[in-house]
Amino acid sequence: EVKRDGRDSYMEYSPSFAEKNVSKIVLFEDLKKAIEENQLLLHFQPKYGLAHNQIEGVETLVRWKHPEKGMISPGEFIPLAEESDLIIQLGNWVLKEACYQYKVWEQQSYINFHLSINISPKQFLHPDFTDNIIQVLEETGMSPLKLDLEITESLAIENTESTIEKIQILKQYGIQISMDDFGTGYTSLSYLSMFPLDRIKIDRSFIQYLPDNKDHKAIVQSILTVAKNLNIRVTAEGVETQAQLALLHQLQCEEVQGFYFSKPVPPDSLLAHWNAQLMSM
Ligand code: C2E
Ligand code: MG
Ligand code: MG
Ligand code: MG
Repeated sequence: EVKRDGRDSYMEYSPSFAEKNVSKIVLFEDLKKAIEENQLLLHFQPKYGLAHNQIEGVETLVRWKHPEKGMISPGEFIPLAEESDLIIQLGNWVLKEACYQYKVWEQQSYINFHLSINISPKQFLHPDFTDNIIQVLEETGMSPLKLDLEITESLAIENTESTIEKIQILKQYGIQISMDDFGTGYTSLSYLSMFPLDRIKIDRSFIQYLPDNKDHKAIVQSILTVAKNLNIRVTAEGVETQAQLALLHQLQCEEVQGFYFSKPVPPDSLLAHWNAQLMSM
């Protein structure tokens, strides 16, 4: 925003450093309260398998319904939580709540899809992470075979050894591991062979300008080829148009996710999507 200061020159208007930090501290205190006072809630976005045109998984995406400010996006409060140990508490809340939700769906219907949960690097690297997951699975009765953890490239690059070790432990339980936002973190494709991954999710920024952007098409194609050879499934995220879908189909991408199919929705709507699909089978 540019403000005229009366003397025919222009001054940048932006909140001062102090202003920004005060509002950040306020938001941080609010977020602490939000976890305790149940202001957080979960939405779920389906992932479709192109081979059978079915929901293969659902991704858990946290939402914050702030009492005064309304809905705050995770893009705003997750990075804030990641600056402290609050992300551990938040992450544990999401994990437990999502697994409980899965069990509730199981009681409501015949469901057969996996549940993905985004894990922040700090949470993944915490020494109690694996034990905690196993405990939540026992407590909720959710099958480890249905759980999929979405980790990030930066985690894998900066903590390669310990990440591989931890993935191996989780895989012994049958838990699936996906690499989220693939392509944004400067990992080379050769990195993929180092991690025992079940799935990679190609970042939306490479899908957004398909089918016209030839460079992005080439990148997506290379990722698909390498992943296929390494036996890793590929999900394209952020699919919004029929034209994007058609190209991804042609390139033999296996899984797609995006607003073209569904936005993230509350638990009841997600189950309604699933049940509608069951009826048509
Ligand atoms: P992400 O894991 O890559 O999730 C995908 C984001 O893209 C979601 O935004 C989703 O709503 C949005 N999206 C999906 N399809 C489309 C599409 O077709 N077009 C567009 N424009 N956007 C689409 P959301 O829910 O705002 O989440 C943003 C990020 O916040 C997530 O990115 C993830 O990194 C983080 N996040 C969300 N929930 C959690 C959580 O429970 N724990 C952690 N650690 N991070 C989370
Ligand atoms: Mg994700
Ligand atoms: Mg993603
Ligand atoms: Mg993303």
